[in-house]
Amino acid sequence: MEQEALLNSPIEYLKGVGPTKGDLFKKELGIFTFGDLLMSFPFRYVDKTQFHKIKDLNEDSEAVQIRGTLRRLETFGEGRKKRLVGRFRDDTGVIELVWFKGANWLQKSLQIGSEYVAYGKINNFKGKISLPHPEMELITDAGIKKATSFAPVYPSTEKLNLKGLDAKGRRKVMEVLFTKIKKTDIPENLPNYIIERFNFPSRFEAVSHIHFPQTAKQLERAQKRLKFEELFFLQLRLLQIRGHRKATVKGIPFPAIGKKFLTFFHEKLPFELTGAQKRVIKEIRHDMGAGGQLNRLLQGDVGSGKTIVGLMCMLIAIDNGYQACLMAPTEILAQQHYAGISEYVEGLGVEVGFLSGSVKGKKRAALLERLSKGEIDILIGTHALIEDWVVFPKLGLAITDEQHRFGVKHRAKLWQKSKPSPPHILVMTATPIPRTLAMTLYGDLEVSVIDELPPGRKEIKTIHRNEGHRLRIIGFMKEEIAKGRQVYIVFPLIQESEKLDLQNLETGYELLLRDFPMPDYQISVVHGKMKPKDKDFEMQRFIDGETQIMVATTVIEVGVNVPNASVMIIENTERFGLSQLHQLRGRVGRGAEQSFCILMTGYKLSAEARSRIQTMTGTNDGFKIAEADLQLRGAGNMEGTQQSGVINFKLADLSKDQRILQIAREVAARILDQDPKLEKEINYRLNRYMKTHGKKYKAWSRIS
Ligand code: ADP
Ligand code: MG
Repeated sequence: MEQEALLNSPIEYLKGVGPTKGDLFKKELGIFTFGDLLMSFPFRYVDKTQFHKIKDLNEDSEAVQIRGTLRRLETFGEGRKKRLVGRFRDDTGVIELVWFKGANWLQKSLQIGSEYVAYGKINNFKGKISLPHPEMELITDAGIKKATSFAPVYPSTEKLNLKGLDAKGRRKVMEVLFTKIKKTDIPENLPNYIIERFNFPSRFEAVSHIHFPQTAKQLERAQKRLKFEELFFLQLRLLQIRGHRKATVKGIPFPAIGKKFLTFFHEKLPFELTGAQKRVIKEIRHDMGAGGQLNRLLQGDVGSGKTIVGLMCMLIAIDNGYQACLMAPTEILAQQHYAGISEYVEGLGVEVGFLSGSVKGKKRAALLERLSKGEIDILIGTHALIEDWVVFPKLGLAITDEQHRFGVKHRAKLWQKSKPSPPHILVMTATPIPRTLAMTLYGDLEVSVIDELPPGRKEIKTIHRNEGHRLRIIGFMKEEIAKGRQVYIVFPLIQESEKLDLQNLETGYELLLRDFPMPDYQISVVHGKMKPKDKDFEMQRFIDGETQIMVATTVIEVGVNVPNASVMIIENTERFGLSQLHQLRGRVGRGAEQSFCILMTGYKLSAEARSRIQTMTGTNDGFKIAEADLQLRGAGNMEGTQQSGVINFKLADLSKDQRILQIAREVAARILDQDPKLEKEINYRLNRYMKTHGKKYKAWSRIS
């Protein structure tokens, strides 16, 4: 108990911190207690085991550490311009050390003629190199010891720096903390059998070494164990939630495969299902027939044929006497689903209804009336579907398309649309998610993947071009249009500069009018500032083939299907993220014709932008692109992750730690298999840890 109290002590009580610095810790870093401080890990280390020779230093050297003697110390200038310059010599040469701040104090404390370790970043001024503001460590016995280890570097801010909590200051505070901490303050939370199996250091060792590693090996082992721990407890929690739901939530059993499904399958299906589609339908059927509740994420690349899978699952619900609904994020997309699905089920005796904000008055009243009487089998629409006044007497299956577009709260409402058992839930996403991310964000769901495209698709040809090719591209557009095809031109939209973007789009549009004059050519324009009604109108003209060119911002990104469009031109490609580019490209290549995606950029590109474009021209595979995106941007910047607290890891990195995650999940699953409630003696540490820390992992993905 006393130990608990130590880690719960307010940060200002730590020797050397006090109220002023304590406040800064709280405000700037969210560190309130000794425990918070202990768990705020360095974000990098300076390898102080290596010393550089002064003669080897040059303008390309970055952080360097040199060991030598301070020879001279002089001040130049007055007042604010005052600087302190020292000469530092090792057995190979001499370098200047320069300080612009704290000159008086430094002049008093530094000892001329003594040996120091100087550490800092090389500055290059017109070919003359110096070491500004080096950290100076006097070589005493202790000094050498410190200088031959790895120095932790903690996140800092300017305010902290000013109050003496710079790299060195923060390290000091950490050192003081560690003089207080005992082994019992950092109790073990993993069972011995895990520690032994992976040869992990104890928790106490790991936390000590993450702050003050003596060797690279020590650091690596500490990192591995702490990463494992982070990922493992999250997986344990997610799998517990899943297990708990399976055990307690009763699903609506759909035992029968009935007439409608079979008739559709044998007589209506206009193509052979791909192997992946068949497998996924089987997986879903199994979940819905087993008495539990279906809770599945269906991943599949753009154009992989998720809609038909969704439809066939809805037919299973209908065959078993239930209704189904399909919710899409935009009016256009919902309408496309409505039109497509109505056509598919013609003659099957399946009633399909449509509901969105635009369905009003008498039409809406009539629809709701039919719905409540059970006369509608499939209701398709926007998030209007989840409003309280939409009442399904027998909702058996709820599908959301492009689910990442919906907020968690939106999705949660679907659960309440059927009582006492919630409907089966299927969420579909066309933005493939890397495995590690799926395991983390949707770790409490089952996941199905359609990893195969329907046969006969022509690969979209993707090429990178710039302004110099403009004329040829215009010629190419004309050729394609003459063949009866349609063209998209997309301009970037970034929130901060909406005005500028619109200007971009408008200028682009005007330039385009010169090359594609009316009445020979018709152009649709769609952007985010338009009223939804006008947007839909313009979009519809393009869908109906009345316009040949669609100039748009990314509003067209989501699932629009115009099979006749064969060219996608993306302007300022460097300003788009990878998954967005892939989504945009997916708007073409939907018909039988060869399609093209032209990525326009400026002449100068950052290395990252170049890498993105190479990924795009190199592959059409959405999963590969998602993986590349994760590597380039990191998990925290991926779509759908911001709202989730679950990936705020201290150490683990989903783009790099796949293997640890995989193992952590497997270990967690095996433990829960054998001991679902963590009641066994060997798991008592897990039980204790989950009781106090488990709550922080919310199953926010509960689409439910
Ligand atoms: P997405 O997965 O992007 O939602 P869709 O469901 O819209 O893809 O399907 C894209 C197109 O592929 C549609 O025109 C659909 O009719 C067609 N399609 C789906 N499955 C097959 C298949 N097995 N064989 C041929 N075409 C298919
Ligand atoms: Mg789709």
